[in-house]
Amino acid sequence: MRHSLTQLLTRWFLIFAFLPAVIFGYAACKYMIVATEHSTAVILNSTCQKDAEFIAFWFQERLDDLRKVIPTGPVKSLPVLETELKKAKAEINGCTRVACADMKGVVLADSAGRVGDNVSALKWFEAVTSGQVHETAIFTDPDRRAMIIAMPVHAGDVQVVWAEFDVKLFHSILQQSHLEQISHLDSSGQKRWLYGFGYRSKKPEWDEIRIYLLRPDGRVLVELDNHSGAKVSSPQSLPDTATKAESEVMRWLQNKSSGYGTYINRHGEKVLAACRWIPDPGMMLVVEEKRKDVLRGLYSQGSTMILLALLLMVLLTVPLSTIVTQRVTEPLRQLAKEADKIAAGHFGHQIAVTSRGEVEMLSRAFNEMSLRLQEFYARLTRQIELLAQQKEEIIKRNQELEALQEQLKENQAELEEKNLRLEEIAHIDELTQVLNRRALMERTMLELERAHRYAQPVAMIMMDVDKFKQINDNCGHAYGDLVLSDLAKLIKTTARVSDVVGRYGGDEFVVVLPNTDEEAAFSFARRVIEKVNKHSFITPLGRLEIGVSLGVSVWQPDNGNGNLEERMRVLLHQADMALLESKRQGRNRATLYSKHH
Ligand code: GH3
Ligand code: MG
Repeated sequence: MRHSLTQLLTRWFLIFAFLPAVIFGYAACKYMIVATEHSTAVILNSTCQKDAEFIAFWFQERLDDLRKVIPTGPVKSLPVLETELKKAKAEINGCTRVACADMKGVVLADSAGRVGDNVSALKWFEAVTSGQVHETAIFTDPDRRAMIIAMPVHAGDVQVVWAEFDVKLFHSILQQSHLEQISHLDSSGQKRWLYGFGYRSKKPEWDEIRIYLLRPDGRVLVELDNHSGAKVSSPQSLPDTATKAESEVMRWLQNKSSGYGTYINRHGEKVLAACRWIPDPGMMLVVEEKRKDVLRGLYSQGSTMILLALLLMVLLTVPLSTIVTQRVTEPLRQLAKEADKIAAGHFGHQIAVTSRGEVEMLSRAFNEMSLRLQEFYARLTRQIELLAQQKEEIIKRNQELEALQEQLKENQAELEEKNLRLEEIAHIDELTQVLNRRALMERTMLELERAHRYAQPVAMIMMDVDKFKQINDNCGHAYGDLVLSDLAKLIKTTARVSDVVGRYGGDEFVVVLPNTDEEAAFSFARRVIEKVNKHSFITPLGRLEIGVSLGVSVWQPDNGNGNLEERMRVLLHQADMALLESKRQGRNRATLYSKHH
């Protein structure tokens, strides 16, 4: 599927706008989370520090209170001591009981009046009397309703003095957390929270904060969490203090250090926490806030921000992409329109260069191309004209050539005719139109050659007109010529086509008969005489009858193998001899050559 440049540009614009928006939104969210966590950690750390200071101070005050009631010398009267203990109990803030016991754990005096009870089985007692604790031991009682501060003393029988506090007291202590201290009043008197970078949507509420005190052994001494704040009054609903604190906190506890961080607590909640070790009374204060509470509202804020960023991007992108696309495509469209004119054959058409940059380059290239095309077209047209001229010239030349060829053909025919004529002249006797002497000799030689090759006989008949001189003399030389010509025709009609008829000279003719023996030759000779005698030659003196004398000679294959000239000479000679013999014997006859002639 093909897309126009406009579609492509818009699409890419949207993609490139959408991606940064998402990335920006994601980064902003991450940043807000980190910033919020950091600001919360600062708040929690600050709260923890203040609370720890407060608790340390509170314990110091209580210890001071307790030290005041410790007997400095041997106890003289237990009832008096008890009265003092009661008085102290009333004076010590939050105290529920002040008592003392001897080495065996027997209660000697008690503000609560439980003299005689035995506390030796209790852990704090054991710790204090075994020498593990030098000054103060802080424990909870077996049912964990009370917190106990015990001190070893050496005043006669009295070995241990302790004060008990209701655990609820610690809840109220913790509830006096110094969270308030990290807020401030702004110019209009409104309470403002230090939210770090201000991304927290609301201040940390008490019911979202969990504060607890840990004993060095990792047990929770007292805990105040978001939901138990209301339940704290009921001792039965106290949190499970036997639960070990989370490992992160334990690590801090073991190191007796302070810090803050993120971890999953024993309730399975991911929390942000700060802790502080309180050296005196040797406890650790931990302040936690659930991460989801910390970040509550942030996600909606974040997604709102992403949506806003997206919307902004889209709002910016759509007109921007439209403008950019138009700026890019409009000159291209114009260019295409102009280019169409060139394509339509308006070579040399120049495009107006209105844009800058690539489109300008393209326009210039088009203009350059248009000019080149114009030049090229002009050159091409010229060449076509030239070619047409050349074609005409070639056609004209061709016609001339054809005429010349025609002329040449005619000339050739004429020449051939002339040659033929020449040939004839060379071979034909002009007067009689039979072979002249030279041609006669050549043909006779050929016949002799052939006869020799095929072992066939060749006959030669030599003929002379009887008393021809008289015809010339009586009728005129011209009529003598006519007689000769007439005679030649007669001989030719008598002979076969294959026979050779020639004029030997004057009134002498020779006929060569191939493949003819003596008998046939002689018969032919007589036939000639007969025809001549019968023929009427027209002369001024009237019809004329003439006679001819013939000599016949025959070459036989068994005559011997003499050379051709020799055979020729012999044949002629013998024919001549036979002719002479015919003349001698009275003319108008034929004589076959014999050796006796
Ligand atoms: P014979 O019977 O002994 O042959 O007697 P003849 O008169 O024919 O004597 P011969 O053959 O010797 O003479 C031939 C004559 O023919 C001689 C010559 O004047 C004549 N003659 C030769 N050539 C031509 C020619 O072309 N035309 C004419 N009209 N006469 C010729
Ligand atoms: Mg003659």
